[in-house]
Amino acid sequence: MTKDLLGRHRAVMPDWLALYYEEPLEITHGEGRHVWDAEGNRYLDFFGGILTTMTAHALPEVTKAVSEQAGRIVHSSTLYLNRPMVELAERIAHLSGIPDARVFFTTSGTEANDTALLLATTYKQSNSILAMRNSYHGRSFSAVGITGNRGWSPTSLSPLQTLYVHGGVRTRGPYADLSDDDFIAACVDDLKDLLGHTRPPAALIAEPVQGVGGFTSGPDGLYAAFREVLAERGILWIADEVQTGWGRTGDHFWGWQAHARSGPPDMLTFAKGIGNGMSIGGVVARAEIMNCLDSNSISTFGGTQITMAAGLANLSYLIEHDLQGNARRVGGLLLERLRAVAAQVPHVREVRGRGLMLGIELTRPGTDEADPAAASAVLEAAREGGLLLGKGGGHNTSALRVAPPLSLTVAEAEEGAAILENALRSL
Ligand code: PLP
Repeated sequence: MTKDLLGRHRAVMPDWLALYYEEPLEITHGEGRHVWDAEGNRYLDFFGGILTTMTAHALPEVTKAVSEQAGRIVHSSTLYLNRPMVELAERIAHLSGIPDARVFFTTSGTEANDTALLLATTYKQSNSILAMRNSYHGRSFSAVGITGNRGWSPTSLSPLQTLYVHGGVRTRGPYADLSDDDFIAACVDDLKDLLGHTRPPAALIAEPVQGVGGFTSGPDGLYAAFREVLAERGILWIADEVQTGWGRTGDHFWGWQAHARSGPPDMLTFAKGIGNGMSIGGVVARAEIMNCLDSNSISTFGGTQITMAAGLANLSYLIEHDLQGNARRVGGLLLERLRAVAAQVPHVREVRGRGLMLGIELTRPGTDEADPAAASAVLEAAREGGLLLGKGGGHNTSALRVAPPLSLTVAEAEEGAAILENALRSL
C-alpha cells in the first residue's frame, strides 16, 4: 500500500520534496505522543509532527473546539469581525511582552517572516537585512533569500541585501572554543565590523535557538549584546520564534527571554505549535511598525475561525497544564540521560539544548567533520525501534533533533531515550 503511494507521490510531487526514510512512512493517525503508520506500527513521536504538535496528537480539547467551530463556520474572511481571531490576538499580544503590540495572522512561518521583512523594510526604508549564519526562515523568495543555512537557501537572487552575522553556532566556526563572554564579545565585534562597511540595515532577524540549523544557539545574553549595537543605530530586532515559542525551551515562554536584559524584540514571528497542527502563523510588532503599511494587506486564510478556535483551545491547554514547566522538567531529565549515553558513543560531539528542544551533533569520531550519514543511520535505527526523530544542522543534516509534544511524560522520555541509546550504539 505504502509502496504504491510512494510511486504515485514521485509521479506528481516535486523531486526536491524531502522524505526522511529509506522506506517512507505513511502516517495515518496519532494519539498523545504516539503516531501510527499504514501498516499499524506505533511510534513515539520525538519530533512532534515537525514541532507542530505542541501539546499532543488528537488532543480532545482541540478536537472538540475545531469540530464545534466547523459546525458553525470555518472561514468568513478578515473583511468581517471575527471573535476567535480577536481573542487569540489579545492573548498573544499580552504574552509577547511587546508594548502596544499588534498581531497579524498568517498561514505559515514563512508568510509570517515575509510579513516581518515587508514591515521592517518599509518602516526603515532600507532593503538591507542582517541575518545569522546557519539560520532558516522559510521557503518564500524573500525568506530563502535571507536564510543563512546553505542547505536550505536555493536562491541567491533575492532583492534583499543580506549580511550574515556569527553567533548561532558554537560547536563549529571561528569562535568554537571561546568562553561565553568571549564568544559574545567576538560576535559583537563581527556585527560592528559588518555595520561599519554598509548603510544601516532595516533589521536583524534571528532564531533564539536555530531550529533547522540543528537546535544550536549562542550563549544566553547574545541578543541582548547585539541589541545594544542595533539600538544605537536604529536597527530593528526580529525574533523568529517559529520553533522556540510557547514554552518549548522550558525556562522561558519565548526564546528571546533568554536574552531578556535587552527587553522584548521589536517584532516576533510565530507559527508551528500554536495551532497544534492547524496552519497558524503570525507577526507581533509594536503598533507604529505594524501600522507603517498604509494599504489594506490581507492574508485570505490568515485568522480563519477554524484555525483560531484550535489556537485558543491549544493555548489554554498549554497554559492551564503548565506544559512549559513540564518541558523544563522532563526535558532536563532527558538531556541528562542523553548526555550520559553520548559520553559512550564516539560519534556524538555534543548533546545540547533546553526544554524539549534537544540537539545531538554527530561528527566523524575524533574529528570536527559533520557526519550526515551517521545521523541518517541513527534515524533509521530509531524508526526500527519505534521512535521518530528529526534531523538538521551542519552540512544540512548532521544533527539529530528531539522535539516531542510538550506533554511528554517521564516514562515516555525514558522509553524514547532507551530506543535512541540503542540506535546511537549501533553506529
Ligand atoms: N522560521 C523558522 C525558524 C522555521 O524553523 C521555519 C520552518 O521550519 C520557518 C520559519 C518556516 O515556517 P513554515 O514552514 O511554516 O513556512
